[in-house]
Amino acid sequence: MHSRHRLAKKLATAAAAYQVAAVNPHCGECTKPCCRLDPLVLELDWQQLKGLWQLDESHRDFDRRLTAGNGPPEIRAQDGIYYAHRKTCPAYDEVHRTCRVYNQPLKPAGCTDFPVYEDQGDVIADLRCEAVDLATLTDGLARAVGPAFHIVQSADTEFPFMVTLSVE
Ligand code: SF4
Ligand code: SF4
Repeated sequence: MHSRHRLAKKLATAAAAYQVAAVNPHCGECTKPCCRLDPLVLELDWQQLKGLWQLDESHRDFDRRLTAGNGPPEIRAQDGIYYAHRKTCPAYDEVHRTCRVYNQPLKPAGCTDFPVYEDQGDVIADLRCEAVDLATLTDGLARAVGPAFHIVQSADTEFPFMVTLSVE
């Protein structure tokens, strides 16, 4: 009998394989690159913000500047986390359509997960990425977990572009 843990691992592997096979090859010709951060929001810790935005001031000085309204207008802070929105990520190479911090610690986890990732035994697909095809993704997940299970789809009521694919 499959444990939930084993199933989750299979889903995570299938989700990662889908990204490699179906999403990554499309990034070079994408009409709405996610790294332009519109409509996507990038979530960062201080080290990532400091590195990506090449800030040379202290954490405290930056927070003071941001609170005073003199920080980068695309950055908001809440509970020690920073959110970048509506301006292209400084690590995005527009010419080659690639991430300059690919595979480096500076790259936020949310970038690696987008647009398809496993979360607590489900797979989440973000339809704001034009490369995501739910039917193909669902087929791949079904193959990964085997014929004893099937994949059920549900959309988030508040954010309908976020689709959850669950195993039953
Ligand atoms: S939105 Fe999707 S296809 Fe477009 S650049 Fe991002 S991951 Fe690649
Ligand atoms: S860190 Fe890389 S993947 Fe993430 S938004 Fe910036 S350019 Fe895109």
